[in-house]
Amino acid sequence: MSSDCIFCKISQHELPADIVYEDDDLVAFNDIGPQAPTHVLIIPKTHIASVNELTEANCNVVSKLVLCAKTIANERGLAEPGYRLVMNCNAEGGQTVFHVHLHLLGGRQLKGLG
Ligand code: AMP
Ligand code: ZN
Repeated sequence: MSSDCIFCKISQHELPADIVYEDDDLVAFNDIGPQAPTHVLIIPKTHIASVNELTEANCNVVSKLVLCAKTIANERGLAEPGYRLVMNCNAEGGQTVFHVHLHLLGGRQLKGLG
């Protein structure tokens, strides 16, 4: 837990969020500024600032994030039409919240990455 991290606070239920899934390792909640009909953020409960901080010791959680995104996508009928998973890293990657998170985007035709 990082005391000044909003995603840590959401995972500890210290800040409100529209949580769609939670277990011992991760929390999934609707993005506050959705870019698609489905825009869910999936985060580890453990504070990891960015992909740059992933190591052999803590990277197992990433597969859990992806599997959670897959399950949510399936539940919403997005598996067949398709969806996008995105992890931004640091400033030029477009990261604005420095707690690792996976974006699940779907429900409309997504364009190329810019
Ligand atoms: P990124 O730019 O990849 O770091 O993504 C951060 C995302 O977090 C953005 O899409 C924001 O809209 C979203 N966001 C920021 N604060 C909140 C919040 N309190 N609840 C839900 N989503 C948030
Ligand atoms: Zn955090």
